[in-house]
Amino acid sequence: MKKKMMSLALAVMMCVSLCVPAFAAERTRIEINVENEAEIAEFFHSPEYDPDNLYSFIIPNQIQLRMLCPRCGSNSYRGMTERREGPPIMIMCPASPDLSSDKSIKFEVYTYSECDQCGYKTSSVFLNKYWEIECHLEYWDGAGTWKARPGQSYRNGYDLHEDPDYMGLR
Ligand SMILES: [Zn+2]
Ligand SMILES: [Zn+2]
Repeated sequence: MKKKMMSLALAVMMCVSLCVPAFAAERTRIEINVENEAEIAEFFHSPEYDPDNLYSFIIPNQIQLRMLCPRCGSNSYRGMTERREGPPIMIMCPASPDLSSDKSIKFEVYTYSECDQCGYKTSSVFLNKYWEIECHLEYWDGAGTWKARPGQSYRNGYDLHEDPDYMGLR
């Protein structure tokens, strides 16, 4: 069994060492010296630009990694987040289960990238979720709003309202 694993690992290693240079050779990486980011955008519109090559831009005195728009090459391409709010539901208050209910609103956060220049937009990818809990006992003085996040447990010192498992939140 052990021997079989070894030979399998060896086969994988050999494949990696043989395959990687073959893939890397397909695209040439070209370094280009520019004065500023505007020149990078200009380059993508120029006849010198070849989509089959990979480019590294070197801007003097400026160490900065920026994503460029894959459609227009503009540096107006940035990551955005979007918060989707669910309908409010009433849940049992963990502090006083015999009284009336607390209000819970589920939020789901998605991320996408968007270009201000040409409007190109990627599809949204789920990032995380949380719940906002308004406690009926404490809300009147403004102190009764809690955020329940996955992984928060009352066993680790969080309030019961901040523990989504305890609150039965899905
Ligand atoms: Zn763009
Ligand atoms: Zn409560």
